[in-house]
Amino acid sequence: MKKNTQVFKFGGASVKDIEGIKNVASIVKTYSKGPLVVVVSAMGKTTNRLEAVMAAMKNSKEEALEKLAFLKTECNQVIKDLLGDNSPVFDLINDHFVEAEWALDEPFEKENYDYLYDQVVSIGELVSTQIVAAYFNSIGINTQWVDARSLVRTDENYREGWVEWDETQQSISQIVSPLLAENKVVVTQGFIGSSSDNQTTTLGREGSDYTAAILSFCLDAERMSIWKDVPGVLTADPRAFDNASLLERLSYKEAIEMTYYGAKVIHPKTIKPLQNKSIPLNVRSFINPEGKGTLIFNESEESYPPMIAIEKGQALLQISTKDFSFVAEHHLSFLFQEIKNYKIQVNMMQNTAISFAVCVNDIDDRLANFAESINNEFNITITHGLELVTIRHYESNLVNRLKAGNMVYLESRTGRTLQFVMKRVPLLTRKTEV
Ligand code: ADP
Ligand code: ASP
Ligand code: MG
Repeated sequence: MKKNTQVFKFGGASVKDIEGIKNVASIVKTYSKGPLVVVVSAMGKTTNRLEAVMAAMKNSKEEALEKLAFLKTECNQVIKDLLGDNSPVFDLINDHFVEAEWALDEPFEKENYDYLYDQVVSIGELVSTQIVAAYFNSIGINTQWVDARSLVRTDENYREGWVEWDETQQSISQIVSPLLAENKVVVTQGFIGSSSDNQTTTLGREGSDYTAAILSFCLDAERMSIWKDVPGVLTADPRAFDNASLLERLSYKEAIEMTYYGAKVIHPKTIKPLQNKSIPLNVRSFINPEGKGTLIFNESEESYPPMIAIEKGQALLQISTKDFSFVAEHHLSFLFQEIKNYKIQVNMMQNTAISFAVCVNDIDDRLANFAESINNEFNITITHGLELVTIRHYESNLVNRLKAGNMVYLESRTGRTLQFVMKRVPLLTRKTEV
């Protein structure tokens, strides 16, 4: 284990084009003297585009292959502009695209959809890291590309792989530590891993932060840094709110609470491995690398300003018993078993004598399948198109302003957190003449 190891994570926005990749390289060059692992996501919105390939498969394989080919042409253009006409990277990325094409040749059925999704969507990270690693080497950063599938071992829960920590620890110690000892900068993919029978898995959307935390944990890193298009963690998403301000320091607890409920700046699973080994996390700007950003660690500070997280794509499930019996423990136990079976994430819940309301992430057709599975015993109403608003360290003025004009379906207050589930409705403005 090399002392002072740093783990950097660069997300899709940082490597979205040639200028971005060059900027990332200049940041890495500044830190390349010490032991350094660099985790990189797929370029720009590549993962969404690969998801669109999978969606197209539901209608027509030709359309899916066309979308994939279009993406490949764009990647080839990036390689040409960045590394020239004769780069060996053309062949390397071709191999990854071929892997995806093979997956699209397999029987496309509901049962193996998640498996195929992972085989196709994972190529985004494989391609971006090949390009980035080759560019680092071309400008004199002594770089080694490593396939994260040989490092991060998971179970076979496709699209949301659970990390097998012992195997992962062993692989990282065996593969990454010797490379760091040779003063190589290690470049690897976020988001992807492999199961015990070497099938590609993914860790869930936006999972690259989590990969960096897994590496940090297994390498006993001195610090992990996530480089973003924002100055650090702010009191709210600056895309949605004016006057969001930088939080210079944040406790692990505060960070986990905010990110779990939708502060998209860090993947919620990232914090636990870091907290478990007291590894500080620095969230900082790739646009202004001089900025200090936010430091997340065992901070004892308890006074924070109000912070807002908004999670879109929510649905409210209102469930009641068909025979008017109480919603008792055995009902709840059955409902939660089904919620688990259909991989539904619960964000908020409330129950009364004969009803149970849960706010959940609305993904694919999971809720429809869940509703069908409980149909015998329960009535269920599903309201789609909702948002979950979470306010930490809330104050009533702010809460009232956020609710104004919207329809609020469910609300809860626990300690310093206030949450409500709402639907946006256009603000009524009175006509002057009437
Ligand atoms: P990456 O390129 O690393 O995947 P993301 O686009 O997923 O980055 O995350 C960065 C974005 O997160 C920012 O551009 C910002 O709009 C959004 N964001 C949401 N909540 C916050 C917050 N509390 N602080 C800072 N950024 C936030
Ligand atoms: N590329 C993956 C995604 O967009 C993982 C990540 O960026 O963290 O979800
Ligand atoms: Mg992201």
